[in-house]
Amino acid sequence: MKKNVEEILRDVKRLLDESNEIVDQIGTLKSERAQLQPLCGSLRRRLIRCGKQNCRCRRGQLHGPYNYFVSSKCRGKWQYISNEELERVEQGVADWKKQRKIDADIQAFSARLKEIRQEIATLIPAD
Ligand SMILES: [Zn+2]
Repeated sequence: MKKNVEEILRDVKRLLDESNEIVDQIGTLKSERAQLQPLCGSLRRRLIRCGKQNCRCRRGQLHGPYNYFVSSKCRGKWQYISNEELERVEQGVADWKKQRKIDADIQAFSARLKEIRQEIATLIPAD
């Protein structure tokens, strides 16, 4: 069934409103993203053996646990994290997760914007 002009205008307006809302949301996400200080990797806790000859760790009483940061970029490399650094690294790892979530959201919003543009193009009659 063919839509009349009012219906078309109403649909186009609805799509434009949605589009404006999405542009705003992308803007908010981008400024949130700019605040992040991401560390790409994860925090692990690990028990260690020190290597001294007569130490208790030789009998299975290991030292620690100590905190380590494992970078996603250099796999297998563990970086020791002191208690003073722990909070900053935890925040960095959390920011990295947040950044990936924001990037996925921005991508989804951008895909929807593209759809909207196509929908508007099909609503406007060619003749
Ligand atoms: Zn030891």
